[in-house]
Amino acid sequence: MKAAILVKQKAPLEIAEIELPQKMEYGQVLVRVLFSSICGAQLNEIDGVKGEDKFLPHLLGHEGSGLVEETGPGVTKVKKGDRVVMHWRRGDGLQGPTPKYLWGGKTVNAGWVTTFNEYAVSSENRLTPITGQTDLKTATLYGCALTTGYGVVHHDSHLKSGESLVVFGAGGAGSGIIMMAKLINAYPLVAVDINKFKLNEALKMGASHSLLNSPKIRQDLEKILGLQGADVTIDTTGINAVRELAYETASTAGRTILVGVPKKGEKMAIDSFPLHFDKALTGSFGGDVNPSLVIPRLIKLEEQGILRPEKMITKTYPLLKINEAIKEVRTGDVIRVAIRL
Ligand SMILES: [Zn+2]
Repeated sequence: MKAAILVKQKAPLEIAEIELPQKMEYGQVLVRVLFSSICGAQLNEIDGVKGEDKFLPHLLGHEGSGLVEETGPGVTKVKKGDRVVMHWRRGDGLQGPTPKYLWGGKTVNAGWVTTFNEYAVSSENRLTPITGQTDLKTATLYGCALTTGYGVVHHDSHLKSGESLVVFGAGGAGSGIIMMAKLINAYPLVAVDINKFKLNEALKMGASHSLLNSPKIRQDLEKILGLQGADVTIDTTGINAVRELAYETASTAGRTILVGVPKKGEKMAIDSFPLHFDKALTGSFGGDVNPSLVIPRLIKLEEQGILRPEKMITKTYPLLKINEAIKEVRTGDVIRVAIRL
């Protein structure tokens, strides 16, 4: 089967034929992957943002969808033929061992779920079966972008209806947060980015205001939020200057959530004094969601037409063109890019 492999950091993925493990182990499920999205986390893995990668060569991708082909011992949550969302966070079910694939006699490592490969040996707890009519391309977004957005809004920021929110970075993660914040009517709901296309899309996804990040961004934010600042600010960029701006934009009793991951060794400079009073600053790890609970909730809203996740996928590429797709995610006018396997 074909897979896109991370062989070397800061280099294009290698597309090659690799071999599946001989049999499914306890808790493992073989999935025919049909779609994947590309998330910032994969760009970070390629770029080595967290430092040296000890698992090379390895597979990657962590939000996908597909069909169950075969189940290993102990698996009860899914069966052959089920349509599933593949998600990086742990849900209900067993956690099997991580699989090892073979590439011309060499071992290719993989985590509990990977989605840039035509077949994936996944752990049962990384799969959520979906019933109903949900489109499998759209369903990839339930693997990370939308579930993380849900968790950041509800678990990390405890955002309430009518509270003001500024989201810095209107890519996939930012859009997921905007959609979830719109569901509970945060207002004003401000998107900040350097890309005009993304800002325009943010308005379609529920932002009430969009602002280009320019040297006069502080004045622009003040015009919308007043002098007191925002109830909640969220950074999805991982860029230090933006993270600091997010912290400064929150009110004296505001909450700032850091979703974007900084480069290894980078440090923020903040005035920590307000933290001794009511201001709060926290980092998010995938919004602390249990996909088994959250995915069915979101699909229910999609089926009612309340949530329109398909707006987030701007373009679709075949697996063979994944490096082009990755380039598009880095620099193009796109929110999420899907890969067809
Ligand atoms: Zn992700």
